[in-house]
Amino acid sequence: MSTSDWKTQVASGINSAAEAALHFGTEAASMEKAANSFPVRINKYYLSLIQSPHDQLGRQVIPSPLEIADKSLNGDPLSEDADSPVPHLVHRYPDRVLLLATYQCAIYCRFCTRRRSVGRTPTPTDSEMSKALSYIAEHTEIRDVIVSGGDPLMLSDPVLGSLLARIRAIKHVEIIRVDSRMPCSMPHRITPELCRELQKHHPIYINTHFNHPRELTPDAVAACNRLADAGIPLGNQTVLLKGVNDDPETMKQLMRGLLAARVKPYYLYQCDPVAGTEHFRTTVEKGLEIISSLRGHISGMAIPAYVIDAPGGGGKVPALPPDVLEITSEKVVVRNYEGKVFEYIQARPDIK
Ligand SMILES: *Cc1c(COP(=O)(O)O)cnc(C)c1O
Repeated sequence: MSTSDWKTQVASGINSAAEAALHFGTEAASMEKAANSFPVRINKYYLSLIQSPHDQLGRQVIPSPLEIADKSLNGDPLSEDADSPVPHLVHRYPDRVLLLATYQCAIYCRFCTRRRSVGRTPTPTDSEMSKALSYIAEHTEIRDVIVSGGDPLMLSDPVLGSLLARIRAIKHVEIIRVDSRMPCSMPHRITPELCRELQKHHPIYINTHFNHPRELTPDAVAACNRLADAGIPLGNQTVLLKGVNDDPETMKQLMRGLLAARVKPYYLYQCDPVAGTEHFRTTVEKGLEIISSLRGHISGMAIPAYVIDAPGGGGKVPALPPDVLEITSEKVVVRNYEGKVFEYIQARPDIK
């Protein structure tokens, strides 16, 4: 597939509530209302994977009346706007920043944590990007730039390539991460040309976003392999979503499938309390149960860190099943994956 074909692919498919209603044979009015609060896009490829509107893939992208029924939550629960020193940049942690390079995506996930801006905020201008890059250049503590959005692979190869080159030119930046759902949402975007462009700016890491094993199609796996062949280490961030992946068996298949596609599961996110997404949230106990069901049963390599992004800008906090039962100066009591209890003898402080 040539470079321009993916743009046609993004545009083909469903791009409005009316088209979604027509395609899925549902009532248009409630979809219109949901689409007013967050736009609709289901490109042709992702659409082809949906078997019914309420299946685990349909739920992720088809607008639902539940989005407008939910009035309880905040638009920016992670207080990203408060941690933004210049537009399109979030600087929360000491040595890394999030650079929002575009607000467009190949699909609009209904549970999006940035529903307040994604799909609506215009793509940053050159002069806005220059200001964000100047901030990075002036802050020598920044070692890691996470290019996110939106989906940064919505930028054309030359635009993305020039952005990566400008970040790479900043001496103190060690690694660049690109966060993109494209390997899952539109694998055809991962062209050989794109891989060659990315390769020029190493060390580049990509974190992608698969939520269900059915998304790991042969096309998606091939896209991941093209990136891995370009020397790009791949991670995956999954969101724990009710009715999508909130059961141990689904999660086990997803994590094993990712590892086989050379993608290392990185984070499992507790769903952020974002206005319009209440119907996707499940309990933290469920997340802990899922992690317990993975631990010991499948490769440790396949197990992501389960994290809660602390509302108000506290950052990510790992949530762990309570397997360290007791710690004293003499011993640590632990429980293994089979529920058996063991004692680990502590190091003796008198032996130097
Ligand atoms: C998640 C996140 C990062 C990256 O965190 P890591 O744990 O290093 O992956 C950086 N900035 C913000 C604002 C984030 O939400």
